[in-house]
Amino acid sequence: MVLENGNRKKPNILVTGTPGTGKTTMSTRLAEATQLKHINIGDLVREKNLHDGWDDELASYVLNEDLVCDELEDVMEEGGNIVDHHGCDFFPERWFDCVVVLQTDNTILYDRLINRGYRDSKLSNNVECEIFQVLLDEAKASYAENIVVALKSNNILDIKRNVATLTDWISNWPVPVYGMMKIELY
Ligand code: ADP
Repeated sequence: MVLENGNRKKPNILVTGTPGTGKTTMSTRLAEATQLKHINIGDLVREKNLHDGWDDELASYVLNEDLVCDELEDVMEEGGNIVDHHGCDFFPERWFDCVVVLQTDNTILYDRLINRGYRDSKLSNNVECEIFQVLLDEAKASYAENIVVALKSNNILDIKRNVATLTDWISNWPVPVYGMMKIELY
């Protein structure tokens, strides 16, 4: 049996993607199915004040990357975490055993973001971000390609299938390095 990263007994998974692709919904269900801990970075930043103030234009807190990484170092070393965030390039690469990029067809995403109250540039920027696969490129640039997997998240069936696939992968972890990422793209 080979441990991929450090000495953790359970894997750490990063769930990323454009806002509205279903990161929090899927991460919550995956945590329920696996007993891994769901860490929503947005919530953590608010609860622990890991930010440099409020940005009116973006209507969100300006995340302080150093404070977030310091806060998470010990829990990540322990393993067994599902980290849910719309960015992925500032976490230490060694933290993650699997990086999941959720993707949603842009017409479906548009409706979800409208329902969330996004308008104007916030709406168009996020839909464009999805069309140009910005998060998938960011994930591939930040992590080894064999641990990055893109999963569709258009409907409830997709969520169920993604949770089942990842639960299966987690229950078989760790696997030998050369057979590490067995999740199929579809
Ligand atoms: P994110 O965390 O990526 O911003 P959320 O999990 O908050 O996205 O989901 C945004 C909205 O879209 C929620 O109302 C959620 O119920 C819905 N949603 C997310 N994923 C799916 C899916 N695969 N099928 C149907 N609805 C979804």
